[in-house]
Amino acid sequence: MYVYADNAATTRVSKTALEAMLPYFTEIYGNPSSLHSVGQEAKEALESARERIAKHLGCQPREIYFTSGGTEADNMAIRSAAALGARKGKKHIISTAFEHHAVLHTLNKLEKEGFEVTLLDVSEGHNITAGQVRDAIREDTCLVTCMFANNEIGSVLPIREIGAVCKEAGVPFHTDAVQAVGHLPVNVRTDNIDMLSLSGHKFHGPRGVGVAYIRRGIPPVNVIEGGGQERGKRPGTENLPGIMGMAAALDEAIEKMDEHTAYVTGLRDRLIEGLSKIPHSVLNGDAVNRLPGNVSFCFEGIEGEALLLLLDARGVAGSSGSACTSGSLDPSHVLLAIGRPHEIAHGSLRLSLCHENTPEEIDHILKAVPEVIEYLRKMSPVWKDLEAGKRQYITP
Ligand SMILES: *Cc1c(COP(=O)(O)O)cnc(C)c1O
Repeated sequence: MYVYADNAATTRVSKTALEAMLPYFTEIYGNPSSLHSVGQEAKEALESARERIAKHLGCQPREIYFTSGGTEADNMAIRSAAALGARKGKKHIISTAFEHHAVLHTLNKLEKEGFEVTLLDVSEGHNITAGQVRDAIREDTCLVTCMFANNEIGSVLPIREIGAVCKEAGVPFHTDAVQAVGHLPVNVRTDNIDMLSLSGHKFHGPRGVGVAYIRRGIPPVNVIEGGGQERGKRPGTENLPGIMGMAAALDEAIEKMDEHTAYVTGLRDRLIEGLSKIPHSVLNGDAVNRLPGNVSFCFEGIEGEALLLLLDARGVAGSSGSACTSGSLDPSHVLLAIGRPHEIAHGSLRLSLCHENTPEEIDHILKAVPEVIEYLRKMSPVWKDLEAGKRQYITP
């Protein structure tokens, strides 16, 4: 048995999404900017996808900009609010310490360009409150950007309340909703969201395609320059197969959301309960307000990389928050932000489930993980010291 439990990294393209894409490679392959009928047919499809997605989000079709994915949408939205702020002499931005790098690195860049960034503390309950946002807003705040749900530890933020605080203060509010759209109800009107990022491949659509929703009244800033596509704000010939696949995947995810949420939450809770029995383990993330498919733990006396490799050999595909795989020796900024010390942040495991996972697969994970951890701990000098009392355990 091989279990794919890394759906927060990417998902399988659904049959519906794949079938929705195919005609746009082979039959309706025109360029939507072409004036002939082949092009116009492509244009109609593009605009129908835009309308469907806008309807799901609760916005106007003209507020949707197709991008190359979540990363680009984050860059575009943040840059748009920053440019608008700068024009008014407002150069303060509020965000959280556990954002995705697409947000954090854009903010780092803006800091170098003269903006001031406040990152809200997420150590309390592994989440933030709308009150923290309210307290951080200043006269010169031009943007609040808080993710809808965290990709590593699964915390779901109080977006509607944060949005209400921003609305009251007249500060544009962006949310990186890449982990939320297609998994949780999201509506930009009722949730008081001015800008939002989503990505097709996180809800069983294709990779390399996403959306930036930017409310009318916030002038979008070009991340790249070129032709007139997407009202000149996101030039480049549209990825029509990708867009059609993403729209179909979103239709399907939203239609089946209640059913999938109930099922996946059941699997998640059984996995969390089982893994909690491993001695010296701690759950990461908000235990209550949590993504349906997210399971994230730190295990003491373990290296995340070794755990992942052995689990892969045992037929479990997971992920580790520790970033050694991405060429850095630092543990995940998310785990450090919630207050995990380096020693245990290195021993992290994220398992992210979807509706395709089965109860038998959960049984398989629940057998494999404790065995691999026991094996690794037996070989670990750190673990020997802990057992011998030469070192203090950090976890209970
Ligand atoms: C995956 C992800 C992104 C990046 O999206 P891409 O489409 O892969 O560029 C951004 N933010 C979050 C929270 C994500 O999970």
